[in-house]
Amino acid sequence: MSTEKESLNFIEQMIEKDIAEGKNESRVHTRFPPEPNGYLHIGHAKSICLNFGIAEKYKGLCNLRFDDTNPEKEETEYVDSIKEDIKWLGFDWGDREYYASDYFDQLYDFAVKLIKDGKAYIDDQSAEVISEQRGTPSQPGKASPHRERPVEESLSIFEDMKAGKYDEGTVVLRAKIDMSSPIMQMRDPVIYRIKKMAHHRTGDKWCIYPTYDFAHGQSDSIEGITHSLCTLEFAAHRPLYNWFIGNLGIFPSEQTEFARLNLGYTIVSKRKLRELVEEGHVDGWDDPRMPTISGIRRRGYTPESIRSFADKIGVAKRNGISDVALLEFSVREDLNKKANRVLGVLDPVKLIITNYPDGQTELLDAINNPEDESAGKRQIPFSKEIYIERDDFMEEPPNKFFRLGPDREVRLKYAYIVKCTGFKKNHAGAIEEIYAEYDPATKSGQDTTGKKVKGTLGWVDAQAGIPAEVRLYDRLFKTENLNNIEDDYRNHLNPDSLTIMDQAIVEPSVGNMTPGTQFQFERMGYFIIDKKSDSSKLTINRTVTLRDNWAKQNG
Ligand code: ATP
Ligand code: MG
Repeated sequence: MSTEKESLNFIEQMIEKDIAEGKNESRVHTRFPPEPNGYLHIGHAKSICLNFGIAEKYKGLCNLRFDDTNPEKEETEYVDSIKEDIKWLGFDWGDREYYASDYFDQLYDFAVKLIKDGKAYIDDQSAEVISEQRGTPSQPGKASPHRERPVEESLSIFEDMKAGKYDEGTVVLRAKIDMSSPIMQMRDPVIYRIKKMAHHRTGDKWCIYPTYDFAHGQSDSIEGITHSLCTLEFAAHRPLYNWFIGNLGIFPSEQTEFARLNLGYTIVSKRKLRELVEEGHVDGWDDPRMPTISGIRRRGYTPESIRSFADKIGVAKRNGISDVALLEFSVREDLNKKANRVLGVLDPVKLIITNYPDGQTELLDAINNPEDESAGKRQIPFSKEIYIERDDFMEEPPNKFFRLGPDREVRLKYAYIVKCTGFKKNHAGAIEEIYAEYDPATKSGQDTTGKKVKGTLGWVDAQAGIPAEVRLYDRLFKTENLNNIEDDYRNHLNPDSLTIMDQAIVEPSVGNMTPGTQFQFERMGYFIIDKKSDSSKLTINRTVTLRDNWAKQNG
């Protein structure tokens, strides 16, 4: 019992206490509230796993609520992508799909109630003046000359605002709270402003829109949310959240804050991610280098690996930065069990086995996944001319190079031991062809010679192999902690985040794989057939290398 308790995070501890005390009839009801102004990123994945995970764990409910009170930046395209991403992660909101914009009528009525109760007033000063009067954390604010405006006057102006009789920026509705509160958010915050702009759902019905603070808590309350979990930057808004709920006398949802996920070598801010897309630093929101869920998916990360990563990083009360190596570990761990092994050569050079019979092709048995017997076997063709990886050969190899070089022997995976007998260079001095002889008695699985060699190479039959474009991705940024930089984050982009291997050759079975199929190129890493791959061009993305090469090269 007690050991189980110790492993609960602080949110679970709070929830178990609430349940034990019978708070809200011991109900647990959370929500995930994205603003549909961009694509979800890995930080949102953490919040999704947390909110849906808590609901699952405590047999409660989790709503999907689009926080769409800002008509400028919100679009249906984003709503659709957000739903797709949450489903892909493996969570289900059932029929609990809500929109803050569905509450515009109710929110308007709440505002009217506050005015009538003398707790809100119309201010027709400019935004600059209002902001100047707000003061600083150490200096109290100054009251607006309209703070004591008669209720009837505020009511009728508010109605006229709604009817479109005022221009944008001329009048706002403010809550009347406390101009000398040490909490800036409490200094008569603006709760409604005019925006003559169509909304992605309500069209032209409204020209006044509630602010985040006036919409969020009330939306939670309307939905009967018991535990409103959000990131730390909202802690300062909590008193205001509670003030609205208390003064409106509505269901007392409660807000709790947790640390944002920050990930090394990347950024998690929709605004900056949008800039990367719009400025062409990446090839769209789902570029496989992007930390968006759609980018990560296209890159070949699995939902299981993201959920397991979210579990491993846990929930903290203080912001930190998570190691991208942990995310990579999670996907390797998952794909090791699931991904079939295949042979492919990214930068091919031809190897001719001079003593192999001309015109002969044999089919060799290959194991699909040593971690999963049920994955079975396949056969791969082998003949006199094959391709091997260019850097698996060295003209003058050092002793510790266990691959191919003049007079050296290696095993060709699933095939034979071969000995290098020579090579040919082109005019530019690059290796054009390598020659070798094979020993027919060393066939894999039937080797009777007892011969041992140190290296095993991947290869692809030259005739049967299929050309492919393989895209190798690296970190999008050169700098691990982008929260600490003083200059523009764009200066930290990694210029080598994408390498295209357009001469790659892969074994024939890869040609039959459909977009989204994942596999391991033996010795190289995990890969996925790109979603845009087709018969005219086989396109493959590298998800992750087999080991953490980055640490080795740059550590
Ligand atoms: P961004 O700054 O990237 O636009 P946001 O917080 O404005 O993020 P929302 O769509 O408003 O994005 O967020 C939906 C939910 O996801 C919120 O509850 C928010 O707290 C949470 N969230 C956003 N970013 C992160 C993150 N990096 N880690 C954990 N939760 C996050
Ligand atoms: Mg936001």
